[in-house]
Amino acid sequence: MSESLLVVEGLVKRFPIRAGIFHRQVGEVKAVESVSFDIKSSEIFGLVGESGSGKSTVGKTLLRIYKPTKGTIQFKGRDVTKLTKETLRFFRQQAQMVFQDPKSSLNPRRSIKSTIEESLIVHKVAKNGGARKKIVADRLAMVELSPNYMYKYPSMLSGGQRQRVAIARALALDPSFIVLDEPTSALDVSVQAKVIRLLQRLQAERQMAYLFISHDLSLMRTIASRTAVMYLGRIYELAATEDLFTNPLHPYTKTLISAVPVVSAEERQMKPKKQSYGGEIPSPINPPSGCAFHPRCSLAEQVCAQELPDLAEVLPGHFVRCHIAIDALSAT
Ligand code: SF4
Repeated sequence: MSESLLVVEGLVKRFPIRAGIFHRQVGEVKAVESVSFDIKSSEIFGLVGESGSGKSTVGKTLLRIYKPTKGTIQFKGRDVTKLTKETLRFFRQQAQMVFQDPKSSLNPRRSIKSTIEESLIVHKVAKNGGARKKIVADRLAMVELSPNYMYKYPSMLSGGQRQRVAIARALALDPSFIVLDEPTSALDVSVQAKVIRLLQRLQAERQMAYLFISHDLSLMRTIASRTAVMYLGRIYELAATEDLFTNPLHPYTKTLISAVPVVSAEERQMKPKKQSYGGEIPSPINPPSGCAFHPRCSLAEQVCAQELPDLAEVLPGHFVRCHIAIDALSAT
């Protein structure tokens, strides 16, 4: 595989909780805790987990929408956590984001042309209005919309068309990396597959890297080459996506996969038996000690509540954070 485009090491993001008339900090939300991974050039890297697992916060922190609390983010060899507002310009041209809900991510008062050309103006990419209009038409063509769409407003478009515009906006500066945060979950089922195919085609043609964030593990299987499973702010398993499906090692991953519908008899045989865990995901304000999954894990032992397991590479390229899985594989 090609070299790393993005290297994240020990990323932490905590949000202070303030209260009282003096607005004193009374606690913190531990949204992301010591997350490390890399994304290769032209790779689609998946991040899955339940709502509240911290996956969207990782995406937003990578793009410096949120300031990291700790850790480093190397992009093309430069640590973007150290970039000043002025030097962030280089990174912003290269790295873009597509949000979950195009209805709220597009300004209803701006025409599609104005929406797409905004970053061209900020980054002084085109010489004049005519050149910008050409780029806008080109980006609309990339997302399979005719140039006439540039004169429309978001309210005149369907959900799928709005998301295409959001993708065209992300493509405006010809980025090499896009964070896609649940890009199809707000769309009708009938248009989800079309938008996924569009994203796959664009990635293949333009050799971009994606961080693809989703709660939908079956979707990850169709799109991502490697997938990390997040739980309460940490990565608990990371592997080539096919390995994750055919040989899940973490009890949480097994539970998620056991809930994915399958059609073929072969897949049915390989799939872990249907499992469930009790209760809701615990609060990131006061996460459980040790392995954060232990209150919901049927295999939990005493050590699980006391010690956080390392994220260990137990098979080539296959990392897991579980005392039992690590012990079982190191004994073989
Ligand atoms: Fe379950 Fe213990 Fe493994 Fe955590 S470390 S997943 S509690 S067996």
